Amino acid sequence: MGTYRAAQVAAAGERFAVVDRELVPPGPGHVRIAVEACGVCHSDVYMVNNVLPGLRYPLVPGHEIAGRIAEVGEGTPDVWAVGDRVGVGWFGGSCGVCTPCRQGDFIVCPHLKVPGWAYDGGYAESVVVPFDALARIPDGLSAEDAAPLGCAGVTTFNGLRSSGARPGDRVAILGIGGLGHLAVRYAVAMGFETIAIARGAAKADFAKELGAHHYVDSSDPSAVASALQSLGGANVVLATAANSEAISATVDGLAPRGELVVVGIDAVPLTINPGQLIMPARIVRGHPSGTAQDVEDTMAFSALHGIRPVNETLPLAQADEAYQRMLAGQARFRMVLTT
Ligand SMILES: [Zn+2]
Ligand SMILES: [Zn+2]
Repeated sequence: MGTYRAAQVAAAGERFAVVDRELVPPGPGHVRIAVEACGVCHSDVYMVNNVLPGLRYPLVPGHEIAGRIAEVGEGTPDVWAVGDRVGVGWFGGSCGVCTPCRQGDFIVCPHLKVPGWAYDGGYAESVVVPFDALARIPDGLSAEDAAPLGCAGVTTFNGLRSSGARPGDRVAILGIGGLGHLAVRYAVAMGFETIAIARGAAKADFAKELGAHHYVDSSDPSAVASALQSLGGANVVLATAANSEAISATVDGLAPRGELVVVGIDAVPLTINPGQLIMPARIVRGHPSGTAQDVEDTMAFSALHGIRPVNETLPLAQADEAYQRMLAGQARFRMVLTT
């Protein structure tokens, strides 16, 4: 039934090559998506470099997918039809039978099906996904803008809305990169007094353009906590920076009962003393991404408030270049492949 192009790595750690693959019809409960755009996320490194268990090569990463349904497998509910605009993010389906799934808490399913890990992902013209992975893209949001919301967007949007922060509370966003630049805009739109924290005075203007009410320069990490306390203390810090030293440095900037929500990954341990947590009753927690419904909520909120990721786009044929630019931290701010 024809072929499609995909950017794959033949073996762990190899460079990307664009190859032709045979199209296969979607199995029961699955749909085939004609991919229009796919974000390049730093987490793709875990698939490309064989860091996660159970990976198979050749491998096509990509878990920030946006496109249109091209084919519907049998048993797929008729709410999904050919032509529908859909996105698929980090949440690429869940097992449905484990305890969290039976409790309706699908995102912490231990058998979570992440595109690029459980099945080939979106660095391709075509991808087949289970229907429970689908999020509807609203009118007014382009595929390029929708794609990064499936991971970078939903992670920050959901991290904020699942925190204890209420409108008027002070919320600090650590890092204003691929995740943080969206987080600042979400925090402002959610009605929080928003503090952006990043390294260097040069980012202050960008933080203000995003709507941040305050900017804290974290060049000297030891100065961050006192800067937050001078603003009254943060009720929530959303840590998007992949830097444990910078994350740990925010804890003493939390208000009593303040909450540190960690979404930035670093192999280095956090350094937090129990004493920093106990008397002020502070909370430190991790936050995963969000389900397909959460992605849909993120996209609807983004469309309603005019929030778009700042993207750099390259055609699928230049997947390797896009991936290398992301790795080198050169992409401003989300790298997106287009077909
Ligand atoms: Zn991601
Ligand atoms: Zn499950």
